[in-house]
Amino acid sequence: MPMSDCLFCKIVSGEIPANIVYETDQAIAFFDIDPKAPTHILIIPKVHYDNVTELTRSDVALAGHLLDVVTQVIQQETLIRGYRLVANTGPDGGQTVDHVHFHILGGRELTWPPG
Ligand code: 5GP
Ligand code: ZN
Repeated sequence: MPMSDCLFCKIVSGEIPANIVYETDQAIAFFDIDPKAPTHILIIPKVHYDNVTELTRSDVALAGHLLDVVTQVIQQETLIRGYRLVANTGPDGGQTVDHVHFHILGGRELTWPPG
């Protein structure tokens, strides 16, 4: 069931518009509204899970599907020099939207470590 106060559930339902770049029956990928790299795409399941830990404990097949979507998206966006895959989790991880999502960041050389 969608969470009524969840921003990304509202993107899944179409209540809030997003620039969708890839979609399957279980997941969507869309451009981040505040990009941190030339290519910054978010991948989310259509079903709500709070974070990657809850997702993996509940539905490891869906977790694997999201990684397959990552591979499809990086091919579609031709990120041939590489990319960074990020799942900020919880307060210490800097998560600001509590609907599990992977960030794909690419299109420039990224520094390490993060702040
Ligand atoms: P987090 O901080 O939880 O790891 O990532 C949340 C991401 O969602 C941020 O990068 C933020 O820019 C993005 N974001 C927040 N609100 C919206 C929105 O309404 N539309 C889109 N496309 N991205 C959003
Ligand atoms: Zn949600």
